[in-house]
Amino acid sequence: MKNQDANSRRTFLRNLGAGASALSLPLLGYGNNQFAQNESSGLYSLLKNADNESLGQPGRKLGIALVGLGYYSANLLAPALQETKNCRLAGIVTGTPSKATEWMQKYNIPKANVYDYKNFDRIADNKDIDVVYVVLPNSMHAEYVIRAAQAGKHVICEKPMAIYPKECQAMIDACKKANKQLAIGYRLHYEPFTKEIMRLGQEKVFGAVKFIESSDGFRSGDPTQWRLKKSMAGGGPLMDVGIYAVQGTRYVTGEEPISVTAQFAPKTDPVKFKDVEETMFWQFEFPGGAVSNSTTSYASGVERLYASCEKGWFELSPAFGYGPLKGRTSKGPIEMPVVNHQAAHMDGVCKDLLDGKQLPDHVTGAEGLRDTKLLQAIYQAAETGRKINLKA
Ligand code: NAD
Repeated sequence: MKNQDANSRRTFLRNLGAGASALSLPLLGYGNNQFAQNESSGLYSLLKNADNESLGQPGRKLGIALVGLGYYSANLLAPALQETKNCRLAGIVTGTPSKATEWMQKYNIPKANVYDYKNFDRIADNKDIDVVYVVLPNSMHAEYVIRAAQAGKHVICEKPMAIYPKECQAMIDACKKANKQLAIGYRLHYEPFTKEIMRLGQEKVFGAVKFIESSDGFRSGDPTQWRLKKSMAGGGPLMDVGIYAVQGTRYVTGEEPISVTAQFAPKTDPVKFKDVEETMFWQFEFPGGAVSNSTTSYASGVERLYASCEKGWFELSPAFGYGPLKGRTSKGPIEMPVVNHQAAHMDGVCKDLLDGKQLPDHVTGAEGLRDTKLLQAIYQAAETGRKINLKA
């Protein structure tokens, strides 16, 4: 879960509005040309043909199967799927028989759409399931994404896409080979406050961005959880929530960092954090001249994205949680609709799948791979104490 200790985030759920309103907003440029959907490209035609079964059926909702029924599936995704327009909760994959019974009753899921981790591959024969959504511990993402693609399903994979870039590449390759699309659980890319922040930064509304402070952390609870095991999580808060801070710097500038330096903070609880970092810091330089400083932590909370520009500033705080997000600029408050992040994300992805369109690059495996490379570069910089050159 993003923040087991943050009761406030659960309270936010009660205040969430309809996801649909976010989808009516124009998509804002991210990385400028990254939004380009080249409808005349060979890939577009390929996808369009591949999805013919989904096309021409107005009102059809894609069937999603959730793999892993832990905190995020149970508390955020399944409830969001009760209000989505373009998709519905059609199936589940779980290793816990009691959860299967509970979910079948609660969400009216037929037994034929319930799988465990062994018989999962039989999902290939299930026409009710169009999309497999992998919501497992980070180390398991690659295996289940690849198996889902081989079963002929589109895939959504939770963040971080994987622990190592080579796993990301294998996931991308498997989906490409199966002619299926791969989205990452980048819910904020469909969230109005975040899209406005992308616009303010990338369109230089307050002039060029000079520096960014982008941080995400929380106080971690259960000392036995997989998030504290390097083999399953890949690392500590950097892999879990630091990835949001990395994303924040990238979508404010619309650029890829050219160098990174990083530092581990001393551990205040070396027993609990024997396997992963407790708190760490990193700094990026961007080609346009902006620099960023970030913190991620399992020791205490922080959630802020602040950009100082030539002619003013803008910020989101909270910036990365389930919402409502709040924003301000040097000219006043940012007013945007409050949406259900998970519903907006799944509806946005499924709309493109239903329309036979290529997903925008910044929500796909290509973006997950970019982030995973950066996360590993941050660790390398902290471990070596050296500035890592990220120029291609
Ligand atoms: P969780 O621990 O609550 O759930 C994990 C699920 O995986 C459980 O159902 C568990 O039974 C199952 N599982 C199967 N094999 C397992 C094994 N060997 N060890 C441990 N669990 C196993 O975790 P979560 O909070 O639901 O997170 C799952 C994924 O979702 C993670 O990758 C996380 O980063 C991501 N996540 C994303 C967001 C977001 O806002 N996008 C928020 C929370 C979590």
